[in-house]
Amino acid sequence: MKKASYLFTIIGALAASLAAQPRIDLVYPREGDNIGPVANSFIIGSVTPGSQLWVNGQKVEGNNNGAFLAYIPFTAGQFQIKLLAQKHGLSDSLIRNVNVAPRSIMISPDSLAIVHGTITPGQELGVRTGDRIAVTFRGTPGRKASFSIGRGQGIPMEERIGRLEQDEKALAFSDSIVPDTLTLPGTYMGSYLVSGRDQWYSEKIYLYLVDTLGMMAVDSSEARVSTWPESLMVWAVTKDSVTVLKTGPDLGYEIFLPPGVNLELTGSAGENYRVKLAENKDAWVKKVSVSVKAWPGPMVSAKLAVGRTFKQEEGTLVRFSLSRACAFSAKTSADGMSLKLLIFGAQADMDWVRYDPQDKLVKDIRWRQVQNGEVELEIFLSQPLWGFDARYQQNNLEIEIKPRPRVQKNRPLAGIKIAVDAGHSPESGAVGPLRTLEKEVNWQISRRLGNLLKNAGAKVYYPREGDQQVGIYQRPARAAVWGADILVSIHNNASPDGVNPLEDSGFSTYYYQPFSRDLAMAVHRQFQKTLQVPDHGFYYGNLVLCRATQMPSVLVEPTFIIVPREEAMLLTAEFQEKIAMSVFLGIKEYLLTIAGK
Ligand SMILES: [Zn+2]
Repeated sequence: MKKASYLFTIIGALAASLAAQPRIDLVYPREGDNIGPVANSFIIGSVTPGSQLWVNGQKVEGNNNGAFLAYIPFTAGQFQIKLLAQKHGLSDSLIRNVNVAPRSIMISPDSLAIVHGTITPGQELGVRTGDRIAVTFRGTPGRKASFSIGRGQGIPMEERIGRLEQDEKALAFSDSIVPDTLTLPGTYMGSYLVSGRDQWYSEKIYLYLVDTLGMMAVDSSEARVSTWPESLMVWAVTKDSVTVLKTGPDLGYEIFLPPGVNLELTGSAGENYRVKLAENKDAWVKKVSVSVKAWPGPMVSAKLAVGRTFKQEEGTLVRFSLSRACAFSAKTSADGMSLKLLIFGAQADMDWVRYDPQDKLVKDIRWRQVQNGEVELEIFLSQPLWGFDARYQQNNLEIEIKPRPRVQKNRPLAGIKIAVDAGHSPESGAVGPLRTLEKEVNWQISRRLGNLLKNAGAKVYYPREGDQQVGIYQRPARAAVWGADILVSIHNNASPDGVNPLEDSGFSTYYYQPFSRDLAMAVHRQFQKTLQVPDHGFYYGNLVLCRATQMPSVLVEPTFIIVPREEAMLLTAEFQEKIAMSVFLGIKEYLLTIAGK
């Protein structure tokens, strides 16, 4: 920029702040956003500093820098947020339109109606003999309801008192009481047990509601139901870098698989296939995460035979030979002294385990057939496990067990490899009232932390530098390939709709693996000492960055970037340095506890 124009800019800015009308910048929610069924929620943005601000007629106090957060009543349907700012007799106004989901649908008792949006199942279903298809909908209370699959026989339904579901995010992240007892009359439920005689190809589910005069309302589900072949087995192979098996089509992430694992599919629901893991255990996998194989006909259980250990330069490799790459889960014990593997779709035929006499880390390996198609293997160790890497080499399941790094008492960080992950990018993450981007402050804090670590003798690696775009699963993978001893992911927090960030803000720390807990707690204690923001809590978090198995890993959210006071702190070098120093001291303190061991 030339000097002259620079001067004009300064003069321009001065003039604007003195005389021009105030300006409102409403950051969140955005125009047309869909908000869940909330009674109150927050809005964030900024006004020209020194302005007075009203939101829907209520006066709102802003921060000195103009940032504001208002927690206001929302009403269901098309909802308008009207803002008015005034300064020196000049004003600005803004209207934002959002859609708020209804908390419950009230149905007149005089009507005869089926509420289409409440019909479940709402997605395509593939079922087999023995599956139970559960059908529900809401309609006029006190009527007679039934359903049929295709033009088949009517199956009676019962009216129950439904309940409004709780929002699990609000349960975890808010201390305020979330109402859960709102009961809903007119919820009808029924189910049908699929038999071997049923042959459906893309059939609709029809719903019928009849009143005492014999009048009838009819509707149908968006779902189409098909029967899956009984005589053939459908197989799929995992293809994502990490394929997630869930406990239900939209439920918990439970098992994480490398590519190349064989899965037996037994049904489908919407975007997911159902996977048979063992006699009494199903899981669900995203259709896009697997490739469905030809239909090779019935396949016998995989056989698990022979375990071997091999001393590595660092740590130990444990290899189990299988006749097919089976799904497995791996969990460490709370004290880190053993690693338990569940192998699904396998029968054990383990007559031999050959131990490498040079290896001192693996003490013992035991097996047990838990049920048909599920083998438990337990690897007992002579010292607490630091991390592990599980993958397939052809049909061999290989577990690389990592020992503790060597830590010197006087220089605990010397030579320790630490991956510092700056959360987000390409996506911006959360956005503050002044439009501060989370990904940018995360990177600034990460660099400060990296410098502190390097000065103490650690080796530092950033999975994401500056504006680089790095996928979320790539980050722990990159850290593992680099050989990180520790992984820290830096974030800053935001609240879900309906939770008041002014009551529930501050710092929080997250871990997933038992062997990450002590490190996470050491960092959290440093936040308690140093950061002058509320303690938002210490969490188990089922998060990609925390789930890394190869090293202890923690994720931190030192502030709520959406809270004006905390955003203002985040924008200062001193506070960023405080965050970096807290994480640094937490890591250092944790390493000291294992020094010399
Ligand atoms: Zn984040």
